Amino acid sequence: MNNSRRSFLKYAGVAAAAVAATPVVRAVASSGGAAHGPEVGKLPTQKIAGRWAMVVDTRKLVKEADFEPLIEACHKVHNVPHLPDEKREEEIKWIWTDEFEHTFPEFMSRWPKGRVPTTLNKPYLLLCNHCEYPPCVRVCPTKATFQRADGIVLMDFHRCIGCRYCMAGCPYGARSFNFSDPRAYLPEEEINMEFPTRVQGVVEKCNFCAERLAKGLRPACVEASKGALLFGDLDDPSSEVSRAVRNNFVIRRKPELGTQPNVYYIV
Ligand code: SF4
Ligand code: SF4
Ligand code: SF4
Repeated sequence: MNNSRRSFLKYAGVAAAAVAATPVVRAVASSGGAAHGPEVGKLPTQKIAGRWAMVVDTRKLVKEADFEPLIEACHKVHNVPHLPDEKREEEIKWIWTDEFEHTFPEFMSRWPKGRVPTTLNKPYLLLCNHCEYPPCVRVCPTKATFQRADGIVLMDFHRCIGCRYCMAGCPYGARSFNFSDPRAYLPEEEINMEFPTRVQGVVEKCNFCAERLAKGLRPACVEASKGALLFGDLDDPSSEVSRAVRNNFVIRRKPELGTQPNVYYIV
């Protein structure tokens, strides 16, 4: 076992112990491995991961088919419903793709004919950036959206009143609102009983797989990506995300907004 794998499991193992001590009722109420409450900021994870981060190697993700297993893995494990075509505008997405110009609008230019870079002609992977300074947390009136000490921005679905301030506050379109009852679109036999389903009228988004980190597992999309996605502690200089950020040309989405995204793209 290499060093980074060993340290990842060590970190995550401590987190698992912490979650095991959390009452079940409170654990399932939230979108992650720990419930919201006065103890926020004292979670053991703050000692074990200074700042969880993801690196997306866009060189390895080119065709739509490259993204499908990643999206499928996330949506399956988190009970994200697949809505029929007539409900397309109500789509719930935790991880999805979009064009370069929507992903990195600040890098767009008026390219001379015949000189359009190839990077513009492929999809880019999008998810919640788990921003260091998340506007969604600041605007949420009920504290249903909160940030853990290790940087992960989570939701307590039971606290969400569906006001959608967080959707207006997020400059990345990373949140979806349940216009319909999501459970109506989840075949019973496909429901992952280890993760909560949601109700109509709440918002949801990627949780950086907090519940999997607590069990010593990498995020589902990372596991399915065959090395195109990396995940780890950016505060640990020996982690694979630290090395990837250090050794490659990386960009982040809309850095001028000052939210400090924790998703990095190798381009
Ligand atoms: S990407 Fe949006 S939803 Fe995610 S932490 Fe940042 S502001 Fe919040
Ligand atoms: S929709 Fe829910 S999570 Fe979003 S701001 Fe309102 S209460 Fe908070
Ligand atoms: S980190 Fe987890 S929750 Fe977020 S997109 Fe990947 S699989 Fe989904």
